[in-house]
Order: sequence, then structure tokens, then C-alpha cells
Amino acid sequence: MPATEATTSAAEHWDAIIIGGGPAGSTAASTLAMAGRRVLVLEKAKFPRFHIGESLLPYNRKIFDDLGVWEKIAGAGFTKKRAAQFVMGNGSRANRLDFSKGSFTEYPEAVQVERAKFDDILLHHSREKGAAVREESTVIEHRVEADRVVIKYRAVDGSEHEVTAPYLIDASGLTNFTANRESLREYYPGHKKIAIFSHFSGIDMPTGEEEGDILIVRREKSWCWLIPLAPDKTSVGLVIDAGDFKALGKKPQEVFDEAMADTPAISKRFGNARISEEMHVVADFSYKNETLVSPRVIRVGDSSGFIDPMFSSGVLLAMTSGQQGARVIHEALETRKPLTAGMKRYEKDNRKRIAIYWEFIDNFYKFHFAQIFFQPYNRWGLVCSINAVLAGRTTLSFAVWWRLRVFFFLAWLNKHIPVAKRIKVS
Ligand SMILES: Cc1cc2nc3c(=O)[nH]c(=O)nc-3n(C[C@H](O)[C@H](O)[C@H](O)COP(=O)(O)OP(=O)(O)OC[C@H]3O[C@@H](n4cnc5c(N)ncnc54)[C@H](O)[C@@H]3O)c2cc1C
Repeated sequence: MPATEATTSAAEHWDAIIIGGGPAGSTAASTLAMAGRRVLVLEKAKFPRFHIGESLLPYNRKIFDDLGVWEKIAGAGFTKKRAAQFVMGNGSRANRLDFSKGSFTEYPEAVQVERAKFDDILLHHSREKGAAVREESTVIEHRVEADRVVIKYRAVDGSEHEVTAPYLIDASGLTNFTANRESLREYYPGHKKIAIFSHFSGIDMPTGEEEGDILIVRREKSWCWLIPLAPDKTSVGLVIDAGDFKALGKKPQEVFDEAMADTPAISKRFGNARISEEMHVVADFSYKNETLVSPRVIRVGDSSGFIDPMFSSGVLLAMTSGQQGARVIHEALETRKPLTAGMKRYEKDNRKRIAIYWEFIDNFYKFHFAQIFFQPYNRWGLVCSINAVLAGRTTLSFAVWWRLRVFFFLAWLNKHIPVAKRIKVS
């Protein structure tokens, strides 16, 4: 029988405790509760709450189906996303990846979501499936003992509580709670960026066939996203190197406004733009952790590592890791060993999934790669393999794998011999 707050709060001992109720935490919670485990989610915010990360990938659908939450997502009125457009800042070229046209892509569309609503649906769903969820409960300490983990959290009234479980799932997002306490965080060299973003009305977004597309605009050393969230609400963000931002010596709003005005592919859409949210800034992201599992602890979602959001992979990676992490903990509960083979397998699989996107991200900033990327040529189905990965396919068949290898080889070769026509790519 699924656990309920009323039946378990007296014991305060759980099968698993999860820090964070974002997509990774709620996916892990639903998965464990559906497997009959007694699971507690501690979430510091009161949902619904604003969060960035609004463009999803088609392969998210598989997890929605597994969790039984698809009908709620489909009924929430989110914008349909059929394609991603990669646009050069000067506006001269765009590469539109239509997910329905990729021969290795199994899911043809995704959704663009306001995260406040989306995360709330997922967290409510976890409750419905039997997880206990305590919002406005901030975890302040964790202690690993021989046979359990002790978690201390502070409730909204300031009172402190201890709860215990054989396993802890850290889904605390960029807070990276356990890894920070264990000093495990490492940055990707050359990838210290900052993101400046908000919501706008009055933006002239694509219509007709292209309605709902995300626009990713490549600038010389930075990039921007434009995500249509509703008929007159667009999320717009700028991701810029932290050093370049500092060197400009300007306020985030000024840097953002200048970037929009200087980029022809955006300025032509921005004539009537009006900001409708405060301007947000996230600094210092793109990191990995030295280990994703430690005795009795497993890190999922952004707290397993965070990569530049250029390819909208974050929520899918978070939910995939939340699901696998939960399955591994479900197995581990049979033996209650501190570190199981399943936990180690999770670490390997999760790193592999992140690496698939990292190869694209790292290269997207490079001239020789961008030249090939912006002049797609579907010989041997190479573009179809890119379509599959950028739609969220992370289990690569041989057919996809070898095509990707050829594509990255050609991009590398293009650095030395002009494989693609030399064009300006920003
Ligand atoms: C600028 C930017 C743009 C992005 N764009 C996209 C995009 O278009 N598409 C996409 O898929 N992804 C995008 N992402 C990534 C996406 O936002 C994340 O990958 C995703 O939210 C990760 O989910 P999560 O559950 O791991 O973490 P989160 O969603 O951050 O959830 C973590 C939760 O833990 C809670 N928490 C933290 N510390 C504690 C504590 N001590 N106690 C209790 N609770 C705690 C927080 O309140 C939060 O609710 C973007 C990210 C950034 C920074």
C-alpha cells in the first residue's frame, strides 16, 4: 500500500528521502511510490514557483507515459513544439530540425512549458501516486551512518526535524546539496557562462507550420533562445561567457538589451517587445561532480551535473536520471548495501547520456563545427542521426552512432580542409 503522510510521519523513517521536488525529484518520487516504496520529498519552495528550463524534448514523452502523467500534461494547454530552429545571428541562415522528419526519431513533438505549472503537475502527481511531499521544507544537513542517512530539515515555521532512510536521492538542482558539502563540483574548462533571461509579450514569433518552434540564435561568442510559451508570451534568454560579461562592465539588463538590438535575427522580431517578468540571472553554470553516487546517496538531475542548455536537454536528462536513480534505489532496498552495482551502473549511464549532449555543446561554439551544422546535408542520413539526438534519443542504436561519428569527423576535418562552404556563422 502506498505510504501516506498520516501513516508514516510518526515513524519518520522512510525507504528513501528525496531532496527537491523539481522534475528529477518528482520523477524519482513517483517511480518509487509506484513500486510500493515509502518515499518522502523535501522541497524548500512552495509550488507553483518560477523556474527556467521551458523547452522540452520529444523523448520526454516516454517518461510521461511511464509515470502515467501524459494526460495531465496534454490537457494543460502547453504549446506544441514540432521543431527546433538553429538560426545564425545575422539572420542569413536557419537549420530547422523537424522532429517528425527524422528517420531515427520515434517521437514527433514535444511541449514548451511554463515550469511553474509543469513542475506543479509532476509534484502533485507524485503525491497522487503515494509519495509524501513536504513543501517549504529546506534540507540543511545530511549525515551518512552505517545503515542509514539522517536528514535534518527546517520547516516554514523555523522548526527543525530529523528524518531517516537507508537511501538519499539528491535532486536539489543547481544547489547541488550533497556534492557541494562533499566538495565534488568541477567546472568544464572554458564553459563558465551566465544566462540573462525573462518573459516578453509582443515578440513576432514564427507562425503557420513553424508555430511553436524554439529559436536558438548563434552569436559570435554567445547564443540566445526564444521559446513561445503562449500566444503572446515568449521566453527570451542570452547565454554569454562570464569573462566577457564582466569585461563589458555593464548591468545584466543593458547587456541583454544590447545583444537583442545587435542581433539582426532577433531585432527584427523585437520591435514591439515588452518585458512581463523580472529579469533573471543565473551565473557560473556547467559543472560535473567527481562522483554521482556515494555510500547511501545518489545524485540525479542537475545535482548530478549541469550542462549549457543550448539543446534543451536539461529536463529530459533530469527526468531520465530521476527515473533510473529511483529504479536503482528500489533494487538496492532489497539488500540495503551502501553502494550497489546498480548505483555504479547508474553513474556510468548518466555520464554517457550527458556526454552525448556535451559533444554537441562544446562544438557548437566552434567555427568549423558551426559551418557544417548550418549547412546540413543529409547524405547517408547524417542529419537524421542529429535529429534523433536533439529530439532526446540517448540510447543510440548502431545506425545512429556511426552516423554521428562520421558527422563529428567531418566537422573536425573541416577545421583543416574546407569540407563545407566557408560562410559567416554568427
Ligand atoms: C538558463 C537556463 C535555461 C535552461 N533552459 C532549458 C530548456 O530550455 N530546456 C530544458 O530541458 N532544460 C533547460 N534548462 C535546464 C533545466 O532547468 C534543468 O535541467 C532542470 O530544471 C533540472 O531539474 P532538477 O529537478 O534536477 O532541478 P530543479 O528543477 O532545479 O529542482 C530542484 C529543486 O530542489 C529544491 N531544493 C534545492 N535545494 C534544496 C534544499 N536544500 N532543500 C529542499 N529543497 C531544495 C529547489 O527548490 C528546486 O525546486 C535550463 C537551465 C538554465 C539555467
